[in-house]
Amino acid sequence: MTITHNLGFPRIGAKRELKFSLENFWKGQEAAESLLTTGRELRQRHWRQQSVLDRVPVGDFSLYDQVLDMSMTLGHVPERAARLGGSELDTYFRVARGRSAGDSNGVAAGEMTKWFDTNYHYIVPEFTADTDFELNPERLLTQLEEAKAASVRAKPVIIGPVTYLSLGKAKDDSDPLQLLERLLPAYSALLDQLVAAGADWVQIDEPVLVTDLDERWQDALRTAYATLGQSTARLLLTTYFGRLGDNLPLACELPVAGLHLDTTQSRVEADDAIARLPDDRVLSLGVVDGRNIWKADLGDRLDWLEPLHHRLGDRLWLAPSCSLLHVPVDVTNERKLDPEIRSWLSFALQKLEELRVLARALNEGRESVGTELAENAQAIDSRRQSDRVRQPSVRDAVANITPALGQRQSPYAERAKKQSAFLKLPDYPTTTIGSFPQTKDIRQTRLKFRKGELDEGTYLNLMRENIAYAVTEQEKLGLDVLVHGEAERNDMVEYFGEQLDGYAFSQFGWVQSYGSRCVKPPILYGDITRPRAMTVDWIRYAQSLTRQPLKGMLTGPVTILNWSFVRDDQPRSDTCYQIALAIREEVLDLEKAGVRIIQIDEAALREGLPLRRSDWQTYLDWAVTAFRIAANGVQDETQIHTHMCYSEFNDIIESIADMDADVITIETSRSDMELLDAFDHFQYPNEIGPGVYDIHSPNTPSEDHIVELMAKAAERIPRERLWINPDCGLKTRQWEEVRPALANMVNAAKQLRQD
Ligand code: GLN
Ligand code: ZN
Repeated sequence: MTITHNLGFPRIGAKRELKFSLENFWKGQEAAESLLTTGRELRQRHWRQQSVLDRVPVGDFSLYDQVLDMSMTLGHVPERAARLGGSELDTYFRVARGRSAGDSNGVAAGEMTKWFDTNYHYIVPEFTADTDFELNPERLLTQLEEAKAASVRAKPVIIGPVTYLSLGKAKDDSDPLQLLERLLPAYSALLDQLVAAGADWVQIDEPVLVTDLDERWQDALRTAYATLGQSTARLLLTTYFGRLGDNLPLACELPVAGLHLDTTQSRVEADDAIARLPDDRVLSLGVVDGRNIWKADLGDRLDWLEPLHHRLGDRLWLAPSCSLLHVPVDVTNERKLDPEIRSWLSFALQKLEELRVLARALNEGRESVGTELAENAQAIDSRRQSDRVRQPSVRDAVANITPALGQRQSPYAERAKKQSAFLKLPDYPTTTIGSFPQTKDIRQTRLKFRKGELDEGTYLNLMRENIAYAVTEQEKLGLDVLVHGEAERNDMVEYFGEQLDGYAFSQFGWVQSYGSRCVKPPILYGDITRPRAMTVDWIRYAQSLTRQPLKGMLTGPVTILNWSFVRDDQPRSDTCYQIALAIREEVLDLEKAGVRIIQIDEAALREGLPLRRSDWQTYLDWAVTAFRIAANGVQDETQIHTHMCYSEFNDIIESIADMDADVITIETSRSDMELLDAFDHFQYPNEIGPGVYDIHSPNTPSEDHIVELMAKAAERIPRERLWINPDCGLKTRQWEEVRPALANMVNAAKQLRQD
């Protein structure tokens, strides 16, 4: 019998119940007991929903983050938070969210970073040479107890020791791997306790195996599993988010009871693993995509799996490729979604059903699930053949892309002269990144319009008032290049998705980003076209109000791609090129409307980097090509800006330069301009606006501080190529904070111009 199981289930709740409960609890409007009840109820519900499977994960539920949970389980909490005492829940949220300095118990939150190449963020464990671990298995044991009481066929889930160490950061110069020896006894004890509590299989996640591992990390895995392999627990060593590649032999040699592989990128690895694994090992294959929302082609899966099942028999298990944390819960809630498109989709619950059908077909023959398979085949066919998915003209356009399309008329040095003659900007020009405060008023106006409570005319007028306000304020402040302020935009990707054909939107397609924060990625299902201009009227209106140059504001193709659920029936690069062609049309329309400075944001370019270094260049090549296609159709006098709000450029600087934007604005204030070293060493040739203040903080940067920062910048980049701007957009700030900050920024520029 082929066994089905799941690696993890979305915990936020189909209607985001956990989010609301958490936020009420944080506001003091809900008692701890009530939050814990919400958690318990969600677990019970989710276990019931997963009961179509043979084994159900337990311990994957988290009130905030699964890595923080693991830190708590290992008794490893930053000293600054542990010291303050209080309940365990207090400590937990103290690490997760911090407490403001104004509070007598002020404490900084744990750092957050991206979970592998997903958009989920975890709380980074903090290590020092003295870090100690002390097992605290209560959470897992309680949940296991709950599961047993509910007759759940439970499989506890934990993060493996080597992945855990790799996720953390040393706060001194120590080497986290030195902690392995101290960590393993805690893991051994945990496994013993889980077995004593009735567990047989334990899922131990080591996604670090899909990343580049040097010998030390490979040895760490050998050491760890030499110890943990002695436990009476049957360990399912679980990898996900990609191919094992050169780590495959290692993964197969570790002394565990089973191995889980993500096969979405490579089916060959399943064969390799079968050839290498001793024949008492279970091989669990991730056969439905746990990170995307398309129905799996079950016929195709069965054609592939049937021979494997023949060879492996009971040793073959089936699962999603990774935890379903990264997809929404239930597509049947999507009543407003076009029924044809909905029929192509599969959220978490539907993916479990796919697994059930696959296993039944393997165990009892395809006839036993004939109806389900026929329905699936029909949906797959409908998607493949729908003329809503394929637009011949778009496909032709992508096929006909030539390097010339991404080429500016002249090299930067020549363009710069023309731009400076045309735009007549002073030295150290000042500008902002695009958005101005999204006041309650603005958000309510947009919401009312969405709900149909405001007619279009009234809505347009109200938005124009906001734009006019932002423009006037910027003029009063004396900024050089103005923006319209983005009042009409809910989100920098959704706003464009809504206006492009080829996109659909869910109502409840929420995915956890971190803690209670969720995102609802738009669904890119078809070839992309731009039926009409998307931003031109707004920008033209803003420009009509001022004689200062106004900067048009767009989101770039790579960012739109990376923040959407995208189609799996063509390479990501092709989808990206399609978006790029649509944005290019918008750029050219803006130029035609007299907008001669255009910013194309690529906030998500870096986060799209593949996990393996060897895949980086391919990604960067097509990503940069896409940007160039979007940006570079303009005349020399038109100035292209791009913006990236992060601070790691060292390893991608060559590609950034290759984008050939006339001006790039980046986040630098927190790194004290040191990040400009990367640009300096590379002799980055174009203009740079290094952010001079952190927009995440309500503090007003002083004029002197800005002057100081820019002086440091000028040591690295010639002053004629420097701009002055904040780190990122100002939408989360208040006007009361923005005004003095920008006033200081403008004064700093004046001071610098006199030097
Ligand atoms: N133009 C956008 C803004 O100012 C950029 C946001 C971002 O980079 N994340 O809000
Ligand atoms: Zn930004």
